[in-house]
Amino acid sequence: ILEVKNLEKSFDNLQVLKDISLKADNGEIISLIGSSGSGKSTLLRCLNRLETVDSGEIIVDGDIMVSTLNGKSVYANETVLKNIRMKTGLVFQNFNLFPHYNVLRNITEAPIFAAGIPKEEAEKTAFELLDKLGLKDKAEAYPYQLSGGQSQRVSIARALALKPKVLFFDEPTSALDPELTGEVLKVIRSLTSLNMTMIIVTHEMDFARDISNRMIFMDQGVIVEDTTPAELFNSNNERTKAFLGKFH
Ligand code: ATP
Ligand code: MG
Repeated sequence: ILEVKNLEKSFDNLQVLKDISLKADNGEIISLIGSSGSGKSTLLRCLNRLETVDSGEIIVDGDIMVSTLNGKSVYANETVLKNIRMKTGLVFQNFNLFPHYNVLRNITEAPIFAAGIPKEEAEKTAFELLDKLGLKDKAEAYPYQLSGGQSQRVSIARALALKPKVLFFDEPTSALDPELTGEVLKVIRSLTSLNMTMIIVTHEMDFARDISNRMIFMDQGVIVEDTTPAELFNSNNERTKAFLGKFH
């Protein structure tokens, strides 16, 4: 469903992503871990077109989003990019809700205005999602009236509203206290039964180990390991061991 080949990205003189290649099959749950500054967010941002890449290829569900021609990256046309956008969702660390819209409108905005789904249908889906995520009574609330955990569950509902095939999370719980973290992790765990591909950047190692079928460890812009949780936690690689050692 997702393929990345030889992705490179620099900011000024700093090379942040170095020859990144990975593949995700349908329904895979992949955790992306690594120290601060290793390039995890930049990678997710490139995959969601919030950053441009310098070179390399990204293919989403058979559509080529970007490829390299004569040393220059070439993006697909708007029609293809829109098609890709409908298939992917991103949940941020800081929720990124529209502050001046209520919860219902936050969830239905993209389905109605970007995907052209009729308002009634979009609202029906939104209420189902709110119900599922334990937010039934919050449809009319504004973001400032929500707790962090509730805000994050709304932003997950918003991402799910477009029924994405691939859902990306960038440290979805790092802005939350431990109790609210548990609440949000529970919701993410419940999504693993939907057969949606998920790529999750997280520092919650126990959670990652538990729900992922693969874990990717990044260090200084390179993928050091891409393997099963069991193998990663038994790795002999010095960099992997040093990183995981910080969590004990
Ligand atoms: P964290 O765990 O702290 O979120 P990360 O692995 O997500 O870290 P990135 O945010 O991808 O790391 O950053 C990788 C490197 O790229 C860092 O050195 C960062 O300073 C740099 N960087 C990120 N975005 C930009 C930008 N817009 N302009 C310049 N440098 C940037
Ligand atoms: Mg980050």
